[in-house]
Amino acid sequence: MPTTNFSIGDSVSVALRTHGAKVQKIGQVEAIIPPYGDLPDAYHGEVPALPPSSQSTYIVRVPHDTGKGKGKAFWLTGDALTLQKTCLGCGSKQDADGLLACGH
Ligand SMILES: [Zn+2]
Repeated sequence: MPTTNFSIGDSVSVALRTHGAKVQKIGQVEAIIPPYGDLPDAYHGEVPALPPSSQSTYIVRVPHDTGKGKGKAFWLTGDALTLQKTCLGCGSKQDADGLLACGH
């Protein structure tokens, strides 16, 4: 079973739909909404609403491709996220395909 429980600060891979195309992005868990919880006021108008969920849901912030600004926040269910593993040998992050590029 894939992990569907994440912590604030976790790096996660997320599949997003932009202009009809599916793209894989890396973001960070910024907030955790408890089951049936409401969106914190700070995110109103920034993220589209999610239907009520019996699971915890997550605010994930994905940096802009330019690296400028604060990026874009998304409200997602845990099953939309994949935890990014970090290589214990060199500290590099797994890529979007779930592979450690360094080969350790
Ligand atoms: Zn490595």
